[in-house]
Amino acid sequence: MRGTLLYGPGDVRVEERETPRIEKPTDAIIRLAATCVCGSDLWPYRGIEEVEGPAPMGHEYVGVVEEVGSDVRTIQPGQFVVGSFFASDNTCEICRAGYQSRCVHAELVGAIGTQAQYARIPLADGTLVATPGSPDDDLVPSLLAASDVLGTGWFAAVAAEAGPGKTVAVVGDGAVGLLGVLAAKQLGAERIVIFSRHESRQKLAREFGATDLVVERGDEGVARVKELTHGLGAHSVIEAVGTQESMMQAIRACRPGGHVGYVGVSHDVVLPGQELFFSGVHLHGGPAPVRRFLPELVDLIWRREIDPGKVFDLQLPLEQAAEGYRAMDERRAIKTLLLP
Ligand SMILES: [Zn+2]
Repeated sequence: MRGTLLYGPGDVRVEERETPRIEKPTDAIIRLAATCVCGSDLWPYRGIEEVEGPAPMGHEYVGVVEEVGSDVRTIQPGQFVVGSFFASDNTCEICRAGYQSRCVHAELVGAIGTQAQYARIPLADGTLVATPGSPDDDLVPSLLAASDVLGTGWFAAVAAEAGPGKTVAVVGDGAVGLLGVLAAKQLGAERIVIFSRHESRQKLAREFGATDLVVERGDEGVARVKELTHGLGAHSVIEAVGTQESMMQAIRACRPGGHVGYVGVSHDVVLPGQELFFSGVHLHGGPAPVRRFLPELVDLIWRREIDPGKVFDLQLPLEQAAEGYRAMDERRAIKTLLLP
């Protein structure tokens, strides 16, 4: 099969890879209908995260089940399925509490690499959610978004306790931040402020429900949010970047007693203890337990109540994955969908 490999910083190639086979009786093999490039794939692409190339890439996926192992009970060949970037059994205590991304049997799908024609999905019964039928083509991008960026933005909004009467501030205007806006809107937030200085992203944020835009960053951006909230700060802040600056911006934009939902993969973030102590904010985040939200998100997409697939503003054949990475790295594209 064809699959994407990262050889080193800036060096993405699509090559022949071994077609995956069932390895454990709980596995399923899926034929990818669509896959994509994640903002987090850019960390190793930019050389900020070390990679021992050639490494298979990709952890977002939707597709049709080809084959299942002998212990798989609920997932069947022919079903169209969505899964998240951590395989999980969905039965252990951590899963049942809603933290499937930290399942005691969690396996990272990124190590398998879904930017390919086929993928082996571990713990198929726990990991995969089947759609009610074969989706119309125009629903596929939205179902793919549910696999990671929508689920992650949704978790961030839930962790930040976005809801009726609340002002939600969103740090980060990538796909996760933008879908955090959509999630906050769905959860009933009254006012949604996004930090963004890119016109196309501002426009999409507005479509998803943002009511205010702040172009300033850092302390100036925090001051703008304070101005918009009678000097108090936002009730809820979504952090969707993962840098020192973005994390501090999120904490400082939040009012005492407010909630920060942080989902940007943390890179060298160090929190100053005394400032954190006096901030009085709740911090909750981490790798999003997307699986917790998948049934609800698939249902909202199936009924066409949300259209998160709008974050894909570039669609390419899998063979052109390298251009998909480049376009995102140069911020020419918000998110690239790849067709195997
Ligand atoms: Zn589990």
